[in-house]
Amino acid sequence: MALRIRPEAAGLPVYRPGRRPPLVDGLPAHKLSSNENPYPPLPGVLAAATQACTELNRYPDIAATTLTRVLAERLGVDPDRLAFGTGSVAVLFHLLNVLGRPGAEVVYAFRSFEAYPIATQLSGATGVPVPLTETYEHDLEAMLRAIGPATVAVLLCTPNNPTGPALRQSDVEAFLERVPEHVAVVVDEAYVEFVEDPAAVNGLSLLDRPNVVLLRTFSKAYGLAGLRIGYAVAAPELAAVLRAAANPFGVTTIAQAAALASLAAEDALRERVDELVLRRTAMVKTLRDHGHDVPDAQGNFVWLPAGPQTQAWTDTFADAGVMVRPYATPGPHGEPGRFDGLRITVGDPEANNLALEIATQLT
Ligand SMILES: *Cc1c(COP(=O)(O)O)cnc(C)c1O
Repeated sequence: MALRIRPEAAGLPVYRPGRRPPLVDGLPAHKLSSNENPYPPLPGVLAAATQACTELNRYPDIAATTLTRVLAERLGVDPDRLAFGTGSVAVLFHLLNVLGRPGAEVVYAFRSFEAYPIATQLSGATGVPVPLTETYEHDLEAMLRAIGPATVAVLLCTPNNPTGPALRQSDVEAFLERVPEHVAVVVDEAYVEFVEDPAAVNGLSLLDRPNVVLLRTFSKAYGLAGLRIGYAVAAPELAAVLRAAANPFGVTTIAQAAALASLAAEDALRERVDELVLRRTAMVKTLRDHGHDVPDAQGNFVWLPAGPQTQAWTDTFADAGVMVRPYATPGPHGEPGRFDGLRITVGDPEANNLALEIATQLT
């Protein structure tokens, strides 16, 4: 295999927890800050999870045998291609642990998922952040230029968290043509279920290339964020390395059972996703109608550019009882304010309406 995998994979990293909503006038604030699903578990999921609790004295099935078979069939891939983890973030950590080392480089967008720099740094590698375009999309040309002899991986986030746009199929195909075979191209599809743009990339179509790694999760559309289960779809050789590098027995019996039951509730899933997409579309329209430069939103969240007002606006939301996620770290070249703003998760109508009420008064 062309990928330069380090044989001795190093220690297990820790993920930074998000802020919990405080009480506002004695009521819990609306939490629109972690891209969580506002719905309760899908039909059949609680019963399956409860049933799994009767086996709490046993270790989980380390190979997630049934889930692997059912999911592989659903995706139309060979079961050998799957590697599970305690959330797809954990799978990313496993991947970068086996690819990264001092002197190696990992290319990703800025702004993109905040876990990328952490996972990169913990692997020993150096992050190479590449600024987004003016429309908050990955700058694939600039990312290609950022690939050098030390590059071991490129991380593509589609739809991009936190800004929202998805990558296009044709653009990703052209990009892959020009990436050296020994560079892993991670396509992080955490929000793939929410994508409605027909031109958007479908990672499953890219798997004939052995350096492509898809990351998917049950945390977002499936609403199982609290159970921690996600997976990679990759070349069988790489998937085997990821399984070996994973925290043994990390994915619990409860998580496996809940994921399996969720896969059996596809119709209910579709309904919820469609509803969230409708709410998203309405939110984007309202925000744009009020003059906010909101980029295309293909996930379960919208991006509100706020520049130097980012913290002040976040406080305004919090005072009114809505937690949103502020992003105000300096850009890769230290530019202050570049791509500063707020990410608002699409939640319950009540929370969304309150968020819009506040946002439409901000200028
Ligand atoms: C939420 C998210 C994930 C998945 O997180 P897990 O809960 O660990 O599965 C992965 N990538 C991105 C970009 C995300 O926003």
